[in-house]
Amino acid sequence: MAAKIISGKEISALVRADLKKEVDQLKAQGTTPGLAVILVGEDPASQTYVKNKEKACLELGIHSEVYRVPKDTTQEQVLKMVSDLNGRPEIHGILVQLPLPDHIEENAVIHEIKLEKDVDGFTPVNVGNLLIGGECFVPCTPNGIMELLDRTGVQLKGKTAVVVGRSNIVGKPVAILLLQRHATVTICHSRTADLPGVCRTADVLIVAVGKPEMVKGDWVKEGAVVIDVGVNRVGDKLVGDVEFETAKERASAITPVPGGVGPMTITMLMKNTIAAARRAARAKCGCGCCN
Ligand code: NDP
Repeated sequence: MAAKIISGKEISALVRADLKKEVDQLKAQGTTPGLAVILVGEDPASQTYVKNKEKACLELGIHSEVYRVPKDTTQEQVLKMVSDLNGRPEIHGILVQLPLPDHIEENAVIHEIKLEKDVDGFTPVNVGNLLIGGECFVPCTPNGIMELLDRTGVQLKGKTAVVVGRSNIVGKPVAILLLQRHATVTICHSRTADLPGVCRTADVLIVAVGKPEMVKGDWVKEGAVVIDVGVNRVGDKLVGDVEFETAKERASAITPVPGGVGPMTITMLMKNTIAAARRAARAKCGCGCCN
C-alpha cells in the first residue's frame, strides 16, 4: 500500500491561519509581535531562509527587521547587535541565522541572546528547560516535526521511535520531545553499528543527517511513519535524506522533500515569536487581560 503523503505545506497553512488570529488579537491588545534576524555574509541557502522568514512575518502581520551584514563583520560587532536588540522592547524574538562565518564563535553569539527572546530555542538555559520539561521555546524544526505527527494522528505512546542524527538543532531535541510523549527512543549517528537494522525497528523514523537519499526503502519497517528532515541539493533538484520512491512503498505515511518539514520550521518560528510577544505583554500588563 502506498503511503499517505504528509504535506507540510497544507499543515503549515492550517497552523498559520490560527497564528494569524493570535497576532490580530495581540495587536488589538496593543502588542505587535516583532522578530529581528541577523544574517552575516551571503550564503545563498541562508539568504533564501531569511527571505522566507520575512515573507512569513509579512503574511501574519508580525513586525520584521533583518540585519544583513558583511561576512567580515567581527564577533564583537555581532554581539553588540544582539545586545542592542535584547534591550528593545518592541523586538520579542531574535534569531541569528546559522551557520556563521568561521571567525565567529556560534555559541558565544547564541548565548548572548536574552532567554525571553530566544525564539530559536538554542540558548543553554532554554535547552535545559526543554530537557526537564519546563517552560521553554521548543526549537523550530523539532516542534514542526511534532506538529506534523500530531496533525497526522500518529500515536506515539509506547511506540518505537528512531532518530537518525544527533545535532543540537534537530536530532537531540526531537528525541527529547518524542521521549516526553512516551515513545521509546533510539538516537543514531555516524558511528551507529548496523544503522539499517536499527531503522527497521522504528514505528516512527525521523531522519536528519544531510546525506542525499541515504536511508533506503528496505530500511523502513512496513507501516512505519517516516519524517525526512534532510534538504540536499542534487543538481537542480532538492532531495531528502530518505529514498522517497522506495520508502513510500513500505511506510504508512511519509513527508516529501521539498514540502514536508521545511515549511513547518518557519511556521514554528512564527509561533515562538508570537508566544514571546504574548509573554512580554503579560509581564508588562500584569492584570491577566493579556492571557
Ligand atoms: P548536522 O550536520 O548538524 O548533523 C548531522 C547528523 O547526522 C550528525 O549527528 C551525524 O552524526 C549524522 N550522520 C552523518 N552521517 C551519518 C551516517 N552516515 N550515518 C548515520 N548518521 C550520520 O545536521 P543538521 O541536524 O543540522 O541537519 C540535518 C539535515 O536536515 C540537513 O540536510 C539539513 O539541511 C536539514 N535541515 C532541515 C531543516 C528544515 O527546516 N527542513 C532544518 C534543519 C536542518 P555524528 O554526530 O556522528 O557526526
